[in-house]
Amino acid sequence: MKRPALSVVVPCYNEAACLDVLHARISGAARAAVGEDYEIVLINDGSKDDSWPVMQRLAAADPHLVAINLSRNHGHQLALTAGLDLCAGEQILIIDADLQDPPELLTDMRATMAAQEADVVYAVRRKRAGETLFKKATAAVFYRMLDRLTDTPIPLDTGDFRLMSRRALDALQSLPEQARFIRGMVAWVGFRQVPFPYDRAERHAGETHYPLGKMIAL
Ligand code: UDP
Ligand code: MG
Repeated sequence: MKRPALSVVVPCYNEAACLDVLHARISGAARAAVGEDYEIVLINDGSKDDSWPVMQRLAAADPHLVAINLSRNHGHQLALTAGLDLCAGEQILIIDADLQDPPELLTDMRATMAAQEADVVYAVRRKRAGETLFKKATAAVFYRMLDRLTDTPIPLDTGDFRLMSRRALDALQSLPEQARFIRGMVAWVGFRQVPFPYDRAERHAGETHYPLGKMIAL
């Protein structure tokens, strides 16, 4: 089977209100980057809203779209893992469903990957629009504590929004860890990894699914 040039992988929990706009914006960005040679992989992580029916409607009308329905809510990192297992692309863009990470940055991220001969281009948050002081403060503490706890340097203020090569993804997916912290594991696999500064937007709709309890668990 020939791999598509690009897979865009999106974990989704209660994101029904974002999915139509998300689909349109990812499709536009993917088409601008690689023409028709892409797939969009949406993972429904046991949503309690209409995310799954919306995904099915979108998938019925768009052959680029792969919709995956998990058996229950497994959490962000495992939902993402399921999508990374099933995606087939030569390049993989990981992105959140709420449009805090603008899909249109794909073109510049690909240019950075090519120019720097990188296997990973990870997006680093310069600004975080519409997020509470509490969220920004806990995030700042989280990334700095993590940096002290691990031998592997994990980039500060970096989520899972990133572009990866197939070989970097295969290395990541070969790790047998069951409790997966993906941004840390990607940093660990090596290859050439370069930062890509961006300004984080506000959520398109809805609220964060990372309340304090989930942040502590992460
Ligand atoms: N998410 C998920 N499962 C969960 C919680 C979140 O798949 O149990 C997804 C969510 O739909 C989004 C991404 O993970 O695409 C990041 O979540 P969120 O935007 O709520 O986190 P924040 O940006 O506030 O840190
Ligand atoms: Mg978000």
